[in-house]
Amino acid sequence: MQALAALAAFVASVVGHPVPVSCPSPSVWASDAAVVADTALYGFEPAAYTTLASPRVEIVLGPAACTYASLLVTQPAPEDPQAEFVEGQALLLVLHESEHALGFAGEADAECRAVARFPDAMARLGVTGRHARGLAAGALAYHRSMPAYYRTGCEQPDLAGADRAPQRAAIRAV
Ligand SMILES: [Zn+2]
Repeated sequence: MQALAALAAFVASVVGHPVPVSCPSPSVWASDAAVVADTALYGFEPAAYTTLASPRVEIVLGPAACTYASLLVTQPAPEDPQAEFVEGQALLLVLHESEHALGFAGEADAECRAVARFPDAMARLGVTGRHARGLAAGALAYHRSMPAYYRTGCEQPDLAGADRAPQRAAIRAV
């Protein structure tokens, strides 16, 4: 299965129905009106965004998020600490956008639900053990790097017993 098709299939399994997922090229992404607007609004370039209605619900992943999420869904087995850290961030990001696609528009709503869903998502991918802890460490660092309004009301996350990793997140989402 092609990477994007595998990614869309994974999102559909999370959301419960098909949702369009796209991965624009870097140049298209950089000039995407939503990306330009979000960058001005939030002060950083988003890693992904989800349209909630018009013209349709769609998850649009930036180049880094697409690369690492695609790697994870097509090759969930490799245990490379550097890669799994970023792949964990990409997985949480995809789950966050999936919650938006389900209609949870608020950032904390989407983020808290994504965190809660993270262990199940890893199980869906067949990820367990040390690899799961590596992914969870990346996701947890990512979650903690998000602005406070993304985390308000979230349960203290326990993402498969993640190690408390000090690294900064490499990608950001809106
Ligand atoms: Zn969001």
